[in-house]
Amino acid sequence: MSDTWNTRTKLVHEGSRRSQYGEMAEAIFLTQGFVYPTAESAEARFVQSGPDEFIYARYGNPTTRMFEERIAALEGTEDAFATASGMAAVSGALTSMLRAGDHVVSSRALFGSCLYVLEEVLTRFGVKVTFVDGADLDQWRAAVTPGTKAVFFESMSNPTLELVDIRAVSEIAHAAGALVVVDNVFATPIFSRAVDQGADVIVYSTTKHIDGQGRALGGVVCGTQSFIRKVLEPYMKHTGGSMSPFTAWMHLNGMATLDLRCRAMAESALRIAQALQGHDKLGRVIYPGLDSHPQHGLAMAQMGSGGTMVAFDITAGKEAAFRFLNALEIAKISNNLGDAKTIVTHPATTTHQRLPQDQKDSLGITPGLIRLSVGLEDAGDLIADLLAALDRA
Ligand SMILES: *Cc1c(COP(=O)(O)O)cnc(C)c1O
Repeated sequence: MSDTWNTRTKLVHEGSRRSQYGEMAEAIFLTQGFVYPTAESAEARFVQSGPDEFIYARYGNPTTRMFEERIAALEGTEDAFATASGMAAVSGALTSMLRAGDHVVSSRALFGSCLYVLEEVLTRFGVKVTFVDGADLDQWRAAVTPGTKAVFFESMSNPTLELVDIRAVSEIAHAAGALVVVDNVFATPIFSRAVDQGADVIVYSTTKHIDGQGRALGGVVCGTQSFIRKVLEPYMKHTGGSMSPFTAWMHLNGMATLDLRCRAMAESALRIAQALQGHDKLGRVIYPGLDSHPQHGLAMAQMGSGGTMVAFDITAGKEAAFRFLNALEIAKISNNLGDAKTIVTHPATTTHQRLPQDQKDSLGITPGLIRLSVGLEDAGDLIADLLAALDRA
């Protein structure tokens, strides 16, 4: 609404639309459709609808539109389209822009469902996909050719928190005329500067930090107005992956505190990583905000923060890792992230169970690896919980 607004102001007010009643809170329009005052106005709306004129909730809805405008303003893109899940956003962004014969280059360290879309779905429709080690710029340079239509990567990978240099990969991609599609979930829209760094399309699972309380499944694609409205929207609205207005309404509420939450979580994540580093039962403690992280400099330049996730390796392996997980009292064993509640995950036996051993090895998914999504509890309490459970590991 105002170009001069800073993040926290945008997160509270941007995109708000009020009905004739002037309601304070964002209204939830639980309606599939809209009534036209006359047949002529119905005809006119199907030819060209204005900003406050809707046709059908699969195409757009006032509550969903408020959410799209708020997240686009936050991310710094011209527009956004809200989807039913993070995977609807990833698959929609890629499928809407690609056709048979196109070539895509992707980093190898991907969320399992993203890997499925690239490896199993796109290839079935004749798209050629080349996988690279996302942190190795020489591999990107070798794989991206003038025929490459898009590059895809997670800006911070799951679960080992490896960064991809958005600026450097964007330069390589743009020199070949390829679009840069970034799955930015681990970076969060608060620490993201992806647009300035060259990303063309930015995708979030809003199930994570944006909802922030583990309630709703959702996603969003951010990009230029021409990409969102001319390429993505026709695909999404006709294939059915639009966000429910109820979810958009929950996300609007969640966003008011998004900046506060992400910063508090990142502050606690740094304190936890510092407290765990050097513990005699642990090997690696991975947190991009630690000086010891091999990409610490890149993390600070790219995000200005180490983020809200920590990973560490219990040297004694799986049984010790399970004893540790079972001894925790505050942190919950689950597989979501970005939640107010601290969540611990054992990737080797859950989220990454399906991967063959050689892939687990190459991604650093060891039997003792724990992924920690730091929540909003008191950091001192969390550190005490983690240290007490490590004693019993
Ligand atoms: C969770 C996640 C997704 C998928 O999002 P859903 O909302 O579960 O569909 C995609 N990419 C990353 C990096 C994720 O963490």
